[in-house]
Amino acid sequence: MSDIRVRIAPSPSGYFHVGTARTAIFNYLYARAKGGKFVLRIEDTDVARSSKEMVDVILDGLKWLNVEWDEGPYHQSRRQDLYPPYAEKLLLSKRAYRCFCTPEELTAKREEAQKNKQTYQYDRKCRDLTDEEVDANLNQGKKFTVRLKLPLEGEAEFHDEVLGEMKKAYEDLDDFIIVRSDGSPIYNFAVVVDDILMKITHVIRGNDHVANTFKQNEIYDALDVDRPVYAHLPLLLRPDRSKVSKRKGDKSVTEYREEGILAEALFNYLALLGWSPKDDRELMSEDEIVKVFDFKGINPTNAIFDPVKLNWMNSQYVMKADNHTLVQIITPYLIEADLATKYWIETRWQWMLKVVEALKERCTTLKDFAENGYYFFKDDFEYDPKGVKKRFKGDDLPDQLDSVREELKKHYELRKETAEKVVRDKAEEFGVKPAALIHPIRLSLTGVTGGPGLFDIIEILGQPEVDKRLSRAIEFIRNLN
Ligand code: GLU
Repeated sequence: MSDIRVRIAPSPSGYFHVGTARTAIFNYLYARAKGGKFVLRIEDTDVARSSKEMVDVILDGLKWLNVEWDEGPYHQSRRQDLYPPYAEKLLLSKRAYRCFCTPEELTAKREEAQKNKQTYQYDRKCRDLTDEEVDANLNQGKKFTVRLKLPLEGEAEFHDEVLGEMKKAYEDLDDFIIVRSDGSPIYNFAVVVDDILMKITHVIRGNDHVANTFKQNEIYDALDVDRPVYAHLPLLLRPDRSKVSKRKGDKSVTEYREEGILAEALFNYLALLGWSPKDDRELMSEDEIVKVFDFKGINPTNAIFDPVKLNWMNSQYVMKADNHTLVQIITPYLIEADLATKYWIETRWQWMLKVVEALKERCTTLKDFAENGYYFFKDDFEYDPKGVKKRFKGDDLPDQLDSVREELKKHYELRKETAEKVVRDKAEEFGVKPAALIHPIRLSLTGVTGGPGLFDIIEILGQPEVDKRLSRAIEFIRNLN
């Protein structure tokens, strides 16, 4: 065990962004790698975007990814009385001050700056009010915000484990507000107070928070509390280098889950977005990653989230998944596609194991099992029209297929070796290549031209089903001519 404590602090929005999941994974991995604790805090002060459902989207997604938190979830919305004492402390130590400027005054000044093409900064009008002036304003019942008193010159600096030495001139930072006139804390202030109270030692988050970090550091300093260690992660970009975003149709964690990406595959993929083990390994389990996970492996340049690569990784996980597990996890997709019921699957478990074994090498997602393997469950498929043109031709075909059907029928238990022998012998008898029979038989049995080995399909479908489907196809072909 160590004293290391990390956290994620998602703001719910009803959408579990892959970037949030990646940040969660990096924090979780760091905590596991260093024997620390991983805290979950929900930053839900924006009431409109923080319904229970919106929070649950994140909690469910994290649980599904197996990113288990050690503490929390803490809800920022339920901690509102923890912040004022810290503001009070800053006022007392004169590291912060009350600002009585009205919103109208400030807007006018902002507009004036805009008109003159200047960047607006608060002019620090209330920074040096005397205690008497402050008291007079308070006695008049004037509303005030609380602003932090920043140095007027020099540079704000911090060390980042990923980005190195970071600097910003104080000129470019103004005395920002930490408490609104209604007494509620501003985001950056609440984050710091929470991180202090939760004893967070390492803040690992997206590099879009660097500007916040400069401000948050000033709050730590003003409160006389040690700053945490920072590691700002590269952003996730789309292959066209724009930001991953819902508006552009990029999928959320929930959507990837629904379409049949495995949790382990998404975890593995996201862990490699911005971090690498510095060798060629790509397929890595959580335990393997934990053994070598460190800030040194984090690359500061922005990472590309490539759905094609994720699909590839998922197909690798599908391929090596245990068949029992696969049957279990594809069950909802089969039910959803109306191909089977739970009971039906449970009573045909051994048979289902063969189906997934036959299909798994050709499935990218779990949904593909239902889409590519439709014919294992239903026989009401149409024959693929292109396949019909290409494979259901030749005057001799219906009789040849019928002869194969008759021969297959002699074998009650239709093993794939037997089926193969029957088809090959028949091809020889008819003086055609085996393929001239294999392709039309496949189309007859499945309605499609590709898929697992034909003889595997025959064995899985079983004698009566093969017979029925061949008969239907023979009739169909006869009617074509
Ligand atoms: N609530 C912030 C967000 O969702 C994260 C804050 C933090 O990590 O400091 O982006």
